[in-house]
Amino acid sequence: MRGLVWDGSELALVDDLLHRPPGPGEVVVEIATAGLCHSDLNPIDGKITQEVPVVLGHEAVGRIVERGPGVRLPIGTRVVLSVFRPCGACEHCRAGRRTACRRTAEPAATPFSRDGLPVQQFVRTGAFAERTVVSQSQAIPIPEELPDAEAAMLGCATVTAFGAVEERARVRRGETVLVVGAGGIGLNVVLAARAAGAGRIIVCDRNPRKHDIAVACGATDFFVTPEASDVAKACLDTVPDGADAAFECVGRADLLNATIASLGWGGRAVIVGLPSADTELSLRIRSLFHDKALLGCRMGSVDPRTALPELARRALAGEFSLTPLVTRVAPPSEAGDLIADLRRGELERGFFDLRGV
Ligand SMILES: [Zn+2]
Ligand SMILES: [Zn+2]
Repeated sequence: MRGLVWDGSELALVDDLLHRPPGPGEVVVEIATAGLCHSDLNPIDGKITQEVPVVLGHEAVGRIVERGPGVRLPIGTRVVLSVFRPCGACEHCRAGRRTACRRTAEPAATPFSRDGLPVQQFVRTGAFAERTVVSQSQAIPIPEELPDAEAAMLGCATVTAFGAVEERARVRRGETVLVVGAGGIGLNVVLAARAAGAGRIIVCDRNPRKHDIAVACGATDFFVTPEASDVAKACLDTVPDGADAAFECVGRADLLNATIASLGWGGRAVIVGLPSADTELSLRIRSLFHDKALLGCRMGSVDPRTALPELARRALAGEFSLTPLVTRVAPPSEAGDLIADLRRGELERGFFDLRGV
């Protein structure tokens, strides 16, 4: 089968990728569409240590085409993939706190190979391929009505953003929200803030092109902020008392400091963007004195098995629309182009169509 393989120096579309049969509790998912997330660039940019060669991709929708022993989901079930592989048995899993399961990110034996040699599976999903093998706990049934690209987006960008707003910052009706960075996740945060009834939604990005889409998603104020120092100024000029909730969606220490500096008393800052592992934050401790909070957030801090179907239901009910965020759907042969567009800030979300590639 075909798949996009990063070998440490080149991203290539290969056609001789193989996968092993599903083991106990595993399913083979035929991928329809997979989103290109910034995290997929981390191995390419050397921001994380990743064994190569590797099949990238983790935000995807597809169908179960094969089942290992003990799988209950029927063949043909339409599923969204989740990077989490919870054990299902520990105290956190039993209590529904799947993101707290210590075993969600345990390395698993890769299902992929090429020429008899293993090819790694990026974050236990490896979705830039015609098929992948995952645990049934990572395959979450999703309604047929939601279009492919939007369904794929639910699995990473949307669940992260809505979880950050609703579960982590607990944004209440009428509150002021600041969103730093209007990429795929940042714009989903804007949608979530509007759905939560935020009164004012201030969006900052260095790219002026993001104005229209940010406003379409619900931004009430948009500022072009070439430097991190522009962010707090823009926010505090707009709301002198500061933001009630602020989301750093880029993954830069200087922007996180600006996010914290934008908070009002009782404000919550949520770390949504992920910097490289060795990035450090220098912070004046007193900047959090007035009942402010700095919060980490792992994929929205919610259980994807309950959160994804609920988000799909809300999207289908018209509570929010992911359609404007689907900028481009391309064949995997255009991977170089799509990645260049992402780096230039020209994509809200780009996707690969993997059907019959
Ligand atoms: Zn992602
Ligand atoms: Zn567990």
